[in-house]
Amino acid sequence: MMIPPPDAPPRLTAVRTELEATARRAGRNPQDVNLIAVSKMQGIDAIRPLLQAGHRHFGENRVQEAQAKWPQLRAEFPDVVLHLIGSLQTNKAEDAVALFDQIHTLDRLTLAEALTKAMARQGRRVPCFIQVNTGEEPQKGGVVPHALPMLIDAARTENLPLTGLMVLPPVADNPAPHFALLAKLAARHQLARLSMGMSGDAAMAISLGATDVRIGTAIFGERSATN
Ligand SMILES: *Cc1c(COP(=O)(O)O)cnc(C)c1O
Repeated sequence: MMIPPPDAPPRLTAVRTELEATARRAGRNPQDVNLIAVSKMQGIDAIRPLLQAGHRHFGENRVQEAQAKWPQLRAEFPDVVLHLIGSLQTNKAEDAVALFDQIHTLDRLTLAEALTKAMARQGRRVPCFIQVNTGEEPQKGGVVPHALPMLIDAARTENLPLTGLMVLPPVADNPAPHFALLAKLAARHQLARLSMGMSGDAAMAISLGATDVRIGTAIFGERSATN
């Protein structure tokens, strides 16, 4: 007899149901919106129930933390799709290409070059999003909009697998204009995917075209500052 799968964690189910309803209201196919569960600062025991319930896309923001958690989980669930959503140092490009399946934070030429080299060396193609700093915040990662065309050209010249754009709007701003600008830039450069929307603004992001939403708190609860 088959052992029935455990029930999905209720918060995951609630988030999924809400995202699907939002997509339908926006006239979009819910299957065109990929839910990335952001598991940064969550331990293996918090992550495993989602895997057992069949969820496969996860986001981490630090290479080292992901290296400590995911090899073990991947041994149990080989078809996991791991997304790097935090800023990436050039000297960690090799590790990132080895561990992650998609990278959302390409934002400069030196990193494009390092990723190209790492992918060539490892014989692995890891789709990349370019992070755009639409708020032009000096402390934040991402390429400013006016420098985006140059970075896209360079990445395409290097034959880096570009898949879309990513944004993290300024916390104090209404996110809508940032999402709309990202969608416009992606369309202009023929990039299909839009990584935008978090726990607080996923509905807005979906209505403006998000294909990949990155949701942590609404799925796992508040992250504790100590772990
Ligand atoms: C932490 C994080 C998220 C998830 O944020 P929540 O508000 O917990 O949903 C999404 N994107 C990035 C880049 C993050 O660092």
